Amino acid sequence: MTLRAIYLDNNATTKVDPRVVEAMLPYFTEQFGNPSSMHAFGAKVGGAVKEGRERLQALLGAAHDHEVVFTSGGTESDNAALLSALDASPGRDEIVTSVVEHPAILSMCEHLEKTRGTKVHYVGVDKQGRLDLDAYRTALSDRTAIASIMWANNETGTINPVAELAEMAKEKGALFHTDAVQAVGKVPIDLKATAIDMLSLSGHKLHGPKGIGALYVKRGVRFKSMLKGGHQERGRRAGTENTPGIVGIGVAAKLALDGMAEDGTRMERLRDRLEKGLLQRIGSCFVTGDPMSRLPNTANVAFEFIEGEAILLLLNKEGIAASSGSACTSGSLEPSHVMRAMGVPYTAAHGATRFSLSRETTDADIDHVLAVMPGIIAKLRDLSPFWSKGGGDATSFQPTYA
Ligand SMILES: *Cc1c(COP(=O)(O)O)cnc(C)c1O
Repeated sequence: MTLRAIYLDNNATTKVDPRVVEAMLPYFTEQFGNPSSMHAFGAKVGGAVKEGRERLQALLGAAHDHEVVFTSGGTESDNAALLSALDASPGRDEIVTSVVEHPAILSMCEHLEKTRGTKVHYVGVDKQGRLDLDAYRTALSDRTAIASIMWANNETGTINPVAELAEMAKEKGALFHTDAVQAVGKVPIDLKATAIDMLSLSGHKLHGPKGIGALYVKRGVRFKSMLKGGHQERGRRAGTENTPGIVGIGVAAKLALDGMAEDGTRMERLRDRLEKGLLQRIGSCFVTGDPMSRLPNTANVAFEFIEGEAILLLLNKEGIAASSGSACTSGSLEPSHVMRAMGVPYTAAHGATRFSLSRETTDADIDHVLAVMPGIIAKLRDLSPFWSKGGGDATSFQPTYA
């Protein structure tokens, strides 16, 4: 019997939708023109780039298609937003961000601290991963060039009140950027109704290709290009456009928008069934994140007294792909920075396991996970020196489910 692969690591990357692949293929062959060229080859491709841009505009609820700047992905968009804000905000040299951001923001902030002496305020979160709003307000000042707070956290799915956070930044005259890589395509977004100045997104997190993403830059926001070169993307991102990628992310955006309500409802139901099923079948575990405000596809369950890596290996043997948090931090023995920031006890933070669903996830997938998890956890706890000494206090830490 061959194992059916069950992919529950969609916050790390998603499968490219076959319709996306199909739409991209001609742009590797006949439609190879450079959209900047002054001939028919270029013109045809230029039309496809415009269509891709409009499709992202629609998904984001942006007022104008030229507010969408294509980049190589989420990391580049995040980096470019911070650098541009510092370069384009005279008299302002501080950044306000949060402790639970993706490394694409945090590593750039650390780099700026070291190389430019930029003052960075890292705002904390509570036990459920919710931003400390008072600390955020206090950190903002007339020195703030930009506040950058993620729309949804990649490990827990916790959603931040970004529209409100943008208003608070605006009151201080600061720009507001959000890393929305995990939110775009999963939750409704209507940027023209908000004060959000910049937003990052990535193709491969929404069933599009890798190596393509975008930075939304609200019209009127001063922007300085990170790359120096040609005048592509209205001078905001030099380099010949990734035309197959742009076509692909455009189709991915359209599919995400068309299916959002239905897919979201279904993922949420499966996600809740997974969480409730795990909590019923397994002791000393709890759901992390904000149960009131989070992505429909993300379940992060912390199992006490076990190593997340060990859980993942045994799940992998069952054909199930999950994650211990962030693919970018795996390989280190430290629990994730997100779990630590939330104050999840050490004994549980190590056993935090993320199941991230997609529109392709089925009831049968969830049934299989629920069937194998109790055995996996029991086996590992039998081996754990801490577990044999008796239970812990983690379940009283955060009873997110009644
Ligand atoms: C994946 C991810 C990124 C990085 O995007 P890439 O396109 O892989 O560079 C940034 N932020 C968040 C929240 C992510 O989940």
